[in-house]
Amino acid sequence: MSKEKIPYKIYLEESEMPKVWYNLRADMKNKPAPLLNPGTLEPMKAEELAGVFCEELVRQELDDTTPYFEIPEEIRNFYKMYRPSPLVRAYCLEEKLQTPAKIYYKFEGNNTSGSHKLNSAIAQAYYAKKQGLKGVTTETGAGQWGTALSMACSYFDLDCKVYMVKVSYEQKPFRREVMRTYGASVTPSPSMETEVGKKILAEHPGTSGSLGCAISEAVEKATATEGYRYVLGSVLNQVLLHQSVIGLETKAALDKYGIKPDIVIGCAGGGSNLGGLIAPFMGEKLKGEADYRIIAVEPASCPSFTRGKYAYDFCDTGMVCPLSKMYTLGSGFMPAPNHAGGLRYHGMSSTLSQLYHDGLMEAVSVTQTSVFEAAEQFARIEGILPAPESSHAIKVAIDEAMRCKETGEEKTIVFGLTGTGYFDMVAYEKFHDGKMTDYIPTDEEIQQTLDKLPKVE
Ligand SMILES: *Cc1c(COP(=O)(O)O)cnc(C)c1O
Repeated sequence: MSKEKIPYKIYLEESEMPKVWYNLRADMKNKPAPLLNPGTLEPMKAEELAGVFCEELVRQELDDTTPYFEIPEEIRNFYKMYRPSPLVRAYCLEEKLQTPAKIYYKFEGNNTSGSHKLNSAIAQAYYAKKQGLKGVTTETGAGQWGTALSMACSYFDLDCKVYMVKVSYEQKPFRREVMRTYGASVTPSPSMETEVGKKILAEHPGTSGSLGCAISEAVEKATATEGYRYVLGSVLNQVLLHQSVIGLETKAALDKYGIKPDIVIGCAGGGSNLGGLIAPFMGEKLKGEADYRIIAVEPASCPSFTRGKYAYDFCDTGMVCPLSKMYTLGSGFMPAPNHAGGLRYHGMSSTLSQLYHDGLMEAVSVTQTSVFEAAEQFARIEGILPAPESSHAIKVAIDEAMRCKETGEEKTIVFGLTGTGYFDMVAYEKFHDGKMTDYIPTDEEIQQTLDKLPKVE
């Protein structure tokens, strides 16, 4: 097909938008390992999870056989306000790089929360409302998930209680105010509102908090408050299911023009955007219908796939959540203060972990300064100011395009551009001032936290 025929942006008509989410697990021969109860080491039962999560979300979490879940009309109507997200042909970047590669990116930053997280937030809020709940609690680190959830809760008139890691609460006042604009109550964590918060503050007065600690507070609040449940923005199977809307739209848009990607690239924090983007492509790969190279990109400072171990581990630092089998650096792993807040999780989605373990996808880690170089290059050429997390995918997409330039191969590359970086200007400032560092953990450091993995099997 000639260059002129493929537009800069491929949109879908409303009628072409996905009506179902795709559950990749249904087509996996080797299913992801089940969540385990940390006390009994038995697989978590629906009844046990239902005290913490909404019923329908528990059903989705545990279902690894149903391939498609209908997207309720209320959610589809909300999606229509900001979806389909554009699939952009990066003609300008291709030109600048002088590469024969064809580069496309799926841009998820076109909503006020600024990232793909809204796709799952709205689904989770919907099911909470449908169950007749009063509200939900959650934690947020950098603030993207808290912002998305606040928007979703205000739409369905649900209370939204966010525990925000104290250091972010203080350093990112704008994110905090966006959440409050949407009616959320935002508490710096650790707080005196929960038993676990009080305990942590007694042991570490003056601590600036951590994601693991905020999770523990949010879970406690949800289980201790009538009519409340806890919700999580990544890692879980249900989140990957909702995020499949990204991949389904991408595939539908590419199919319209008969385009078949060779390489699909995404950044990986807990794995939700990547799991969503690759879902239909990986599905074809699993069924032997097509082949794709699929690449997860993670920060060198928090390399769960590339240097972690495939083992059962706690999902939180407080060690109260179920055990999940995943590529992990150990729940005690404290990544160096990297500026891609969304990629600082010690573990990884159990679905992606199984796929990686089975050799169905690749993973690479990249240093922070190289990511910001790519981010700036992209911003100057394609216009969009990318989030640091998203820029991990940009970096590797550019690397692959440059490889094509050497070999002369006209590969088609698709990558996920998960969000915008307007709230990350302190990170950009550090980069511009030459104050950004590339901390890479030593083997000994990683081994220390891996030595503390729970003993399972
Ligand atoms: C949260 C976030 C990520 C990482 O989370 P995943 O669950 O791995 O997708 C990536 N990009 C942006 C913009 C985010 O907000």
